[in-house]
Amino acid sequence: MREWGESLRTWLPPESVFFNCPLREKTTLRIGGEASVVVEIHQKEPLTRVIQEAIREGFPWFLLGGGSNVLFSDEGFRGLVVINCLNEIRLTSPTQIECGAGLPLLDFVRFSEECGLSGSEDLAGIPGSVGGAIVGNAGAFGRNIAEILDYVDIVNEDGELQRLTPHELDFDYRESRLKYSNDVVVSAGLSLSNSGEAEVSGRIQEILDLRAGKHPAWGVATAGSFFKNLPPENPGDRRIAAGLILDRAGALGLSVGDAAVFEKHANIVVNRGHATAVQVLELTTIMKRLAYESAGVLLEEEVRRIGFSQAELEKTQVLKVEPTE
Ligand SMILES: Cc1cc2nc3c(=O)[nH]c(=O)nc-3n(C[C@H](O)[C@H](O)[C@H](O)COP(=O)(O)OP(=O)(O)OC[C@H]3O[C@@H](n4cnc5c(N)ncnc54)[C@H](O)[C@@H]3O)c2cc1C
Repeated sequence: MREWGESLRTWLPPESVFFNCPLREKTTLRIGGEASVVVEIHQKEPLTRVIQEAIREGFPWFLLGGGSNVLFSDEGFRGLVVINCLNEIRLTSPTQIECGAGLPLLDFVRFSEECGLSGSEDLAGIPGSVGGAIVGNAGAFGRNIAEILDYVDIVNEDGELQRLTPHELDFDYRESRLKYSNDVVVSAGLSLSNSGEAEVSGRIQEILDLRAGKHPAWGVATAGSFFKNLPPENPGDRRIAAGLILDRAGALGLSVGDAAVFEKHANIVVNRGHATAVQVLELTTIMKRLAYESAGVLLEEEVRRIGFSQAELEKTQVLKVEPTE
């Protein structure tokens, strides 16, 4: 793998290829051991080529965007981590924007604002990339990115370029088919509606202020909400906040080493400095157990856990599933 990594330096900018790279430097939780090779890629053709080569060589690989929804293990990732930095953006029609999947989501929201286009304001303040947001159908305040998506261009598992429409992506709450495939989102087209720039700016500011009141400040090491909210009790109602259940269950104030529950939001785990991935797993297992014992609910992780053994992940299950005869 090292040899192949060296060969990447002959056709990619050498400073964009890293060996034995600590993944804590590439994620917002600031946790994770080393990846054998990390490449940061800014253009479509090299991105496609690297993935095609990794598939052909049979190397394990993982695609990372802003690293704001992942927990890497302390052992890291023995393979290639490709960081999608494709960040071009343009208007393709009076109301449609096309952008690279590595573009920070907030840059997309700000570009829409400059164009006086409405529809993305509620996404303001969600960290990470447009690609990561599409894969996990990110959203807030009852809106999500799938609602404004026209198409995605992907490199599929065979290394081929393909355009897909939202109905091919099985979007649901924090879900899409992309999450369970090795498809890489390269770029996306999103449709908005005409509005005034001032109106759009006002809503963005409102959202950022709301978030500032209950989320950790930018720069605090976290991956945001650790667990998904629960389905509504009645159809049409809002989802039940996992944070509320955890709050009532007494999760505020819990910590394991430097992994701690954020003091203003019981569903957010922060790294106070030197937290390990194992500590996060221990803490979040305690949180799950509390939620189960006090409210009878099984919380499901929203944060993707990468590089852990099956045995480590099984230990985080609150209910053991007995094999059927
Ligand atoms: C403070 C804070 C607040 C947050 N608030 C919210 C919120 O309100 N709502 C919300 O939904 N989320 C929230 N999050 C979680 C996170 O920001 C989102 O899930 C975000 O969309 C993840 O994007 P990313 O680029 O960082 O993805 P990453 O963490 O880099 O990756 C997440 C997953 O997506 C995959 N992926 C990323 N890019 C691509 C691509 N181009 N092609 C294929 N797969 C890809 C990765 O392989 C990985 O499996 C918050 C996080 C933080 C730290």
